[in-house]
Amino acid sequence: MGAFDRWRPGDNRPNRVFDRGQVEQNAEADRARQRALDVARLRRVWPGLVVDLEPADWLSKTAPGFDRRVQLVVAKVHEPVEYRQGVGWAHVWGHTVRCGARPDHAPCVDVLARLDALVDALDRQ
Ligand SMILES: [Zn+2]
Repeated sequence: MGAFDRWRPGDNRPNRVFDRGQVEQNAEADRARQRALDVARLRRVWPGLVVDLEPADWLSKTAPGFDRRVQLVVAKVHEPVEYRQGVGWAHVWGHTVRCGARPDHAPCVDVLARLDALVDALDRQ
C-alpha cells in the first residue's frame, strides 16, 4: 500500500463556517472571565501587605516611576482592575515602610500597581 492510497481528492470548501460574531462573543466571554478572576485576585490583597515594586510595576501621577524601586505597604486597593494593553493594574493607596506599622497620617502613597506584582507579594507571604 503506497503513501498516497490513504489520501482522497480534496475540495475547496472550508472545514467550518467562520462565524465572526461567534468568535467575538467568545473573546468577550474570555475577557469577562479574566476580569472576574482578576477582581478576585485583587480582593485577596490585604491592608498591611508589603509589596516590592520594580520600576516597571508601578505608575504614579506625581513622581514618574522610571528606574525606581519602591517598597509599598498597602492601605487600600481600589476596584476595578484597569487594563492597559491586556495587562491588569490596580489603584493602590498605601505608605512607605518608613511610615511604620501604625502611621499617624492618611495614606501618603498613591500609585497604579501591576496586579501580578501585588499577587506575587501575596504568594511570598
Ligand atoms: Zn505614610
